[in-house]
Amino acid sequence: MESNVATCYICLGEETQDEKFMTESPCDCKGSINIHWPCFTEHVKTKTKCGICKNNYEYKIEREDDTEYLCKEITHRQTYYPCGTQKEKGSFINGIKDGLWKGYYKSGTVYYEGPYVKGLRNGYWRFYYESGNLRAEGLYINWTNVGHWKTYYESGSIKSEGSYINGKKARDWKEYIDVLTGKKRQREEIGEDEEEPTSKRPKVDD
Ligand SMILES: [Zn+2]
Ligand SMILES: [Zn+2]
Repeated sequence: MESNVATCYICLGEETQDEKFMTESPCDCKGSINIHWPCFTEHVKTKTKCGICKNNYEYKIEREDDTEYLCKEITHRQTYYPCGTQKEKGSFINGIKDGLWKGYYKSGTVYYEGPYVKGLRNGYWRFYYESGNLRAEGLYINWTNVGHWKTYYESGSIKSEGSYINGKKARDWKEYIDVLTGKKRQREEIGEDEEEPTSKRPKVDD
C-alpha cells in the first residue's frame, strides 16, 4: 500500500494539531524524515544517534523546574517545549551568551528579548505579557538596571517608571493607576514576585 501521507519515523502516526512534526530533521537525514516533537523528546532520552544516518543528534534533554525541554546547542542555542514551541533562542561566542536572545511562552508569544554581551545582559531589554502586551522595558549594563525603566499593566497603560542608579531605584519613581481597571499596582518592586527583569541576575565575580 502506497501512501503519500507523511508519517512519524518513530510512532508511524500522522501530523496533527497537537503533535506537530519537527521543522527540520534532528540528524543528517535532511528533509527525508518526519518526527513528532513529543516522540523525539522521548526518543532522545535513550538514543543519542539516528538509526538511519548513524549521526549523533544535536539535541539533548534539559530539565528546569521539573519540566523537560529539548535543547540544541552548537553556535546557537535553541530550546523547545515538548509540544515543539520554541522556548528560547540565542547565540554564543566561545560558549558564552553573546548577541540577541529571545524567550517565548508556551503559546509562542515572545516573553523577553534583548542582547547579551559576554554572558551578561547589556543593552535595551523588553519583557512581555503572554497576551503580547509590553510588560517592562529598559537598559541593562552588565545585568544592572540603568537609566529610565518603565513597566506596564497588562491593559497597556503605564504602571511605573523611573530611573535606576547603581542598580537601585532612584527617588523619581512614579506609580500609576491602571486607567482601564482603576486599580493601583499592588507589587512594590519589579522582580519581587515577577521573575523578570531583575531576579535572574547571576552572581558575577569582579
Ligand atoms: Zn510520532
Ligand atoms: Zn538520521
